[in-house]
Amino acid sequence: MARTGLYPGSFDPLTNGHIDILRAAFALVDRVVVAIGRHPTKAGLLDLDTRIALIQEVAGPLAEAESVELVVESFDNLVVDFAREVGATILIRGLRDGTDLDYEMQMVGMNLTMAHWLQTVFVPASPHHRHITATLVRQIATMGGDIGPFVPASAADAVRQAVARQKP
Ligand code: ADP
Repeated sequence: MARTGLYPGSFDPLTNGHIDILRAAFALVDRVVVAIGRHPTKAGLLDLDTRIALIQEVAGPLAEAESVELVVESFDNLVVDFAREVGATILIRGLRDGTDLDYEMQMVGMNLTMAHWLQTVFVPASPHHRHITATLVRQIATMGGDIGPFVPASAADAVRQAVARQKP
């Protein structure tokens, strides 16, 4: 039976940390659905189409090399409801530190109560990338810093362009 894993997040922008988790996911399941949360009030730095295109461009070849199907979509409902919609039975989450763990354990409890068929699988962050957060990447870019070490080159370009557009 083909297994589908759902990897939800903001991906604003896709970082090298996200790519580590995706590589692990490609070794675990047959189909990965990356789900970008849509917020009615928070637009984010990159628009949804750009975030989707970046993930497809960077992670697509990695998935193909592992014979895994990659789907990238946005969603604005509960993760458990979106997981049901796409046929996912595994929820993939990255763990960077104890703060992530505390938050994630709350989510596991709530999600399992709502959807016992959806099992969360934690992937530990790699030592090289565990410090990376998309929030800090956006802050560094906004203040003119070099985000090259933290994100794929195409994501760095997209972020720089978005920051330049924001400037008055
Ligand atoms: P961020 O928290 O950086 O804004 P997201 O909200 O998009 O990123 O996170 C989506 C998922 O990716 C979460 O499970 C998060 O723990 C994981 N993740 C984010 N950054 C990393 C990283 N550097 N290493 C491992 N996992 C990460």
